[in-house]
This record gives sequence, structure tokens and C-alpha cells, in this order.
Amino acid sequence: KAKATGGSSFATYDPEMLSGLVERLELEADLRLALERGELRLHYQPTIDMLDSRVIGFEALVRWQHPTRGLISPMSFIPLAEATGLIVPLGRWVLAEACRQAMEWSEQTGQPPVKMAVNVSVRQFDRTDLVAEVLEVLTETGMPADRLCLEMTESVLMTDTEENLAQLVKLKALGITLAIDDFGTGYSSLAYLRRFPVDTLKIDRSFVERLGEQTDDTALASTIVQLGQSLGMSTVAEGIEEYGQLAALRAMGCTFAQGFYFSRPVPAADAGRLLLDSSPSVLEKR
Ligand code: C2E
Ligand code: MG
Ligand code: MG
Ligand code: MG
Repeated sequence: KAKATGGSSFATYDPEMLSGLVERLELEADLRLALERGELRLHYQPTIDMLDSRVIGFEALVRWQHPTRGLISPMSFIPLAEATGLIVPLGRWVLAEACRQAMEWSEQTGQPPVKMAVNVSVRQFDRTDLVAEVLEVLTETGMPADRLCLEMTESVLMTDTEENLAQLVKLKALGITLAIDDFGTGYSSLAYLRRFPVDTLKIDRSFVERLGEQTDDTALASTIVQLGQSLGMSTVAEGIEEYGQLAALRAMGCTFAQGFYFSRPVPAADAGRLLLDSSPSVLEKR
């Protein structure tokens, strides 16, 4: 960052900042090409029904198979994609690929498509016609709208409120499931939550992480589950790593579970196997 000092502003750079900038510019240029070159990959993490421990669907999580840097985490390039606007083509690709994969599994198993959750950035609400894009993808892939879930953070409820509300109402009318991701970390008010057509609250991993240890987080997780119940929303606990966390959330009445305890996000081939062989005993090994 350039520092402004007093009235006469001048910039000071240190070499570390400069190399950070160069790296960022390189990565940005590479990300533009990544889409064309087909370097993006989706991994899938199962969502499990708390009552019978069966796989009910997957969350699609993007990764970047960089030619020299290896597999890059979305935490390192989603913010860049959002800042540059590349999130629009990237987000569209993720949506189409996740729906295509759900339809492929459906053909292979002869079962209706699994529920597929896709993360959408708040930038996709203001930089593109998200509703038109989602409709296009559903038509192209044949994915039924009620099999698709869109995950968004609380910021979608809190910025450009009226515009975003209008888009969410249309998506909801198509039959799409809407989920609030990382719930509890933002600042959305209960009034917003009631106004928006939200189906699902995903309890942020930070509350699940400290379940039991710290009474505050246990109380918060339990409050979110009860909030969901009183608003007629289902709840998904993110980041379950241990049996104790699963048991606590199940006792609270949380609807669905996700986390390394069941499975890490895995490539499509492995996720497909989970789908075929999802007897409760396979996933829930205490
Ligand atoms: P998220 O949507 O909240 O996804 C959950 C993240 O938690 C994933 O990280 C997942 O691998 C990780 N996770 C799941 N279970 C556990 C667990 O038991 N323990 C721990 N420690 N972590 C767990 P990932 O895949 O690195 O994604 C990070 C974030 O990047 C996502 O958070 C989401 O905000 C964003 N992201 C990923 N894919 C996309 C995408 O296609 N579009 C957009 N806009 N954002 C994406
Ligand atoms: Mg998510
Ligand atoms: Mg999350
Ligand atoms: Mg997150």
C-alpha cells in the first residue's frame, strides 16, 4: 500500500510490498488464462443427514490446478477474482460444471440428481444477471431447479438490499434452495433474515470448532439451530471434525452435517464412489 503523508502525498514502497504486487499481478494474469486453459477443478464435500448419516448432496468447492504452483486454494484466488471481476466467468463455470456433474451421477446411478450446493459471491449479484445465468445453466444441463442450492454470505442480505432481495425472490420462485453460508460471522439482523426467502442456515465452522470447550460457542450454535427451527429453516453444521461435535449438534436438532469427520472435499471420481456406497457405517466410524 502507498502511504500518504500530510498534504504533499508521496508513496513509499518496500521491496516486500513490491514483490507482493508483482506476484498478485502475475496471479491475476494467470487466472484470466486459467479458465480458457481448463485449469479449474471442482472438489465435492458430502452433506450428511443428521438422522440417518446418509449423503444427501454435495457442496462444490473450486480449486485451481496451476501449471507451476500446484493446487491453489480458493482462499488465495477467490478474493482476487472478486476484485477483478473474473468471478463472473469463474462463477458461471462453477455453476455449470457442478450441475453437469450432478446430472452425470444421476445417469450413472439411475437416481434423481443429488442436491448440489454452489457458492456464489456477492459480486455475482451486482456484476451480472445472476437469475438469467442460473436459468441458462439449468436449461443447458437439464438440472432440476429444486436440486440446486446457492450458498451466499450475509453480505448479500446487507448490501444493495432491495436489488439483491428481488433477485433472491426470483431464484426462490424457480425452486432453488437458498442458504446463508458462514452464518453467525456477519452482521445480518433477524429482520433481514425474515424478509429474505432463505431456506437454510450454515452454522459457521468457528462455532463448531469450539463446541463443548467453550460454553459461549455451544450456546451460539444451539441458538442458531433454534433460530432456524423457529423460522422454518434447516441448519447445516460446517466443519465437523470429531464425533463429539456431531453428537452435540445432533442433540441440538441440527438438520445436516458437513466436515472432515465424514469426508474432505474430494475429486468427482471419489465423490461418485461415496454416492454409490453411502451406507451410514462407511461414513460414521466412531
Ligand atoms: P465455504 O463455502 O464456507 O466452504 C467450507 C470450507 O471449509 C471449505 O474450504 C472446506 O474445505 C472447509 N472445510 C470443510 N469441512 C472442514 C472441516 O471439518 N475442518 C476444516 N478445518 N475445514 C473444513 P475451501 O474449499 O478451501 O473453500 C474456502 C472458501 O472459498 C469457501 O468457504 C468459499 O467461501 C470459497 N469458495 C470455494 N469455492 C468457491 C466458488 O466456487 N465460488 C465462490 N464464490 N467461493 C468459493
Ligand atoms: Mg459454502
Ligand atoms: Mg461456510
Ligand atoms: Mg467460509
